Amino acid sequence: MQIKYLKAFADNYIWLIIHQQQIIVVDPGESYNVLNYIIDNNLRLKAILLTHDHSDHVSGVEDILAHYQVPVYGNCNYATINIVENECIKLFDDIGIKVIITPGHTYNSVCYMIEHNEQKCLFCGDTLFASGCGRVFTNDYYAMYQSLLKIKSLDTKTLIYPAHEYTLKNIDFALHLMPSEQMLDEYYKQCKINYQLNHTTLPTTLVNELKFNPFLKLDDTRIISCMENVFNVSINSNYDCFKYLRMYKNNF
Ligand SMILES: [Zn+2]
Repeated sequence: MQIKYLKAFADNYIWLIIHQQQIIVVDPGESYNVLNYIIDNNLRLKAILLTHDHSDHVSGVEDILAHYQVPVYGNCNYATINIVENECIKLFDDIGIKVIITPGHTYNSVCYMIEHNEQKCLFCGDTLFASGCGRVFTNDYYAMYQSLLKIKSLDTKTLIYPAHEYTLKNIDFALHLMPSEQMLDEYYKQCKINYQLNHTTLPTTLVNELKFNPFLKLDDTRIISCMENVFNVSINSNYDCFKYLRMYKNNF
């Protein structure tokens, strides 16, 4: 199994899962580059997976379906096959695709955990980003917090494939919260080099996110006292910390 990507719009990733000359496309916000890729590489499209229904994730679906009649999995109106929590989608004999329902960014957000041999890959759309998380357009901060807890509980070796390249901006924010964190400074430099060399900072790993992502470090005293000072409140739970932190990031 190979994971490749196409870039779309300013900073979207369309992730491609390729196995035995077959391809699964995650969140095709555009179609022409996907269609060209399939033809140029002589692949057979097997399915489309959708993490949610924002236009930059689904705008290519209709045109792709005009060329290839394949199932579209998701929790939104663009899906032709609706999925439920913990469902295992069977597209290949030796690859498991597990559904993790993760509302918060939208009501219909989902993540897909793909397992092949020992490799675990999470396609998380706009729920988690490298060193950040998605905006809570539903205003249901508690649902988003619970969704991030689900991701946090996965195998720490999981490779994480978010749908946007926001890493450097997000590390800037993390450095603002944890200014004396030398590891974070080094991580920023490494990501910058990776971006220059490979045009991407992704995938990230859950190990990195547990170390560097403020939204998964809600009991870090530096983050808690920053939120208490900014909002003039007393933070009594990880959830409180998450809610204020996400609101703070909205205007950062
Ligand atoms: Zn979105």
